[in-house]
Amino acid sequence: MKDRSAKERIRDFMEVPLGYTPEEAIEEAKRCIKCKNPQCVKGCPVEVDIPAFIDHVAKGDFESAAKRIKETNSLPAICGRVCPQEEQCELKCIIGVKGEPVAIGTLERFVADWERENILLKAPKRGEFKKPKSLGIKAAVLGSGPAGLTCAGDLARMGYGVTIFESLHVTGGVLTYGIPEFRLPKAIVNLEVEYVKSLGVEIITDMLIGNVLTIEELLKEYKAIFVGSGAGLPKFMGIPGENLLGVYSANEYLFRVNMMKAWKFPDYLTPVKIGRRVAVIGGGNVAMDSARVSLRLGAEEVYILYRRTQDEMPARIEEIKRAVEEGIIFKILTLPIKYHANEEGWVSEAECIQMELGEPDSSGRRRPIPIKNSEFRIQIDTVVVAIGNSPNPLIPHRTPGLKVEKWGGIIITKEGLTSIPGVYAGGDIVRGSATVISAMGDGKIAARAIDKHLNL
Ligand SMILES: Cc1cc2nc3c(=O)[nH]c(=O)nc-3n(C[C@H](O)[C@H](O)[C@H](O)COP(=O)(O)OP(=O)(O)OC[C@H]3O[C@@H](n4cnc5c(N)ncnc54)[C@H](O)[C@@H]3O)c2cc1C
Ligand code: SF4
Repeated sequence: MKDRSAKERIRDFMEVPLGYTPEEAIEEAKRCIKCKNPQCVKGCPVEVDIPAFIDHVAKGDFESAAKRIKETNSLPAICGRVCPQEEQCELKCIIGVKGEPVAIGTLERFVADWERENILLKAPKRGEFKKPKSLGIKAAVLGSGPAGLTCAGDLARMGYGVTIFESLHVTGGVLTYGIPEFRLPKAIVNLEVEYVKSLGVEIITDMLIGNVLTIEELLKEYKAIFVGSGAGLPKFMGIPGENLLGVYSANEYLFRVNMMKAWKFPDYLTPVKIGRRVAVIGGGNVAMDSARVSLRLGAEEVYILYRRTQDEMPARIEEIKRAVEEGIIFKILTLPIKYHANEEGWVSEAECIQMELGEPDSSGRRRPIPIKNSEFRIQIDTVVVAIGNSPNPLIPHRTPGLKVEKWGGIIITKEGLTSIPGVYAGGDIVRGSATVISAMGDGKIAARAIDKHLNL
């Protein structure tokens, strides 16, 4: 799949990859050898019948391909854009043993985009799902991120009456307020949410569960509850100067850009002040997004400060590659230890220490060790701390008997059941910061378990 040129794309927020043409999609699909025991499916947490949908693409029947994907995946246009296929279905593809695996993710994206452009936007009714007979049983889902949307969609398909309670005024979770427009256009997220609604799911926004209503109260009306409230609490390093002006958590930074439309200034009068030089701390997808957003907002120099090397970065390889192409400066083996301020209290320098790699730690990655007397300073105007998030403690605090890990994640069984009967959980509230597809997989597992529990 081709990208827009780096020179052209760094000054706007339009999508970077261009997607396949129908001819390219058919050509790529023909590389699939339709394995009898397809390993790719085992690598897909939502169990898409990959060879079947690719076969439809190879025959040029894109509508049937879309239907096939949607049998198990309610959010294909999103998955096709942000899922780490290189670590999942494509990693297991047999063709990948000797060469490039089949580009399953790009094909999924193509099919979803084709359906949107040729069916949903033209004749939405044709894309709608035939509602199943209602079972007359109500289930509640907390949070409208990928975990909640998937669980809700699957339960609705089984015939349950599903209501999603979302604390924000908008739906989609991180897909809407975190991942930037140039990687995941919000029109696409909105349309996928509309699809879930077309399955019969009701969504009530501005409902902060734990405050407005508690789980105990909801259980009086709903027979089962799925908690998919994510991990929206930013982590900081706890170093001196982190409370200076100009130091953001990535959460706040991206939220302001996405939700307050800072990227549309001056049409929207809610800009983010970033200055000339921005330092982003971290090496994951959130760090890459923050750095690339900074560049697009007009920063002249954007640094990624990361304490290990590029090889250990958890971000998707293709996003690292794009960040490098766009001119983001990677300062690896670099750990900030203190921020300094100018006379007005704004951050002006990051004091860092050089690191080296030692033996592997519990994560399997080589441990970064500070090199004595290697401190140095970098001049900066803005810092974005992107070192991870933990679950917001509100729901656990307001739900007596709900067991959580020390770090705040809700404890569940293999089926997604929490310590409270009838209450299930999944996604980032269980795993900490993870991935869209793992959140969707959890939603799916919980929907099945809820069905089993309610049908006893
Ligand atoms: C900037 C960024 C980039 C990322 N890039 C990628 C990527 O490229 N690929 C990938 O796979 N993953 C990526 N991720 C991670 C991925 O987005 C998350 O793992 C995923 O969104 C988790 O889904 P979730 O449904 O568990 O939670 P969320 O998406 O966080 O959704 C939770 C929802 O619950 C709502 N909520 C919270 N508390 C309450 C409450 N008390 N009552 C009601 N509602 C509540 C929230 O408002 C939110 O809408 C990225 C994350 C970020 C922040
Ligand atoms: S493993 Fe690869 S070649 Fe085999 S069915 Fe899946 S996508 Fe096709």
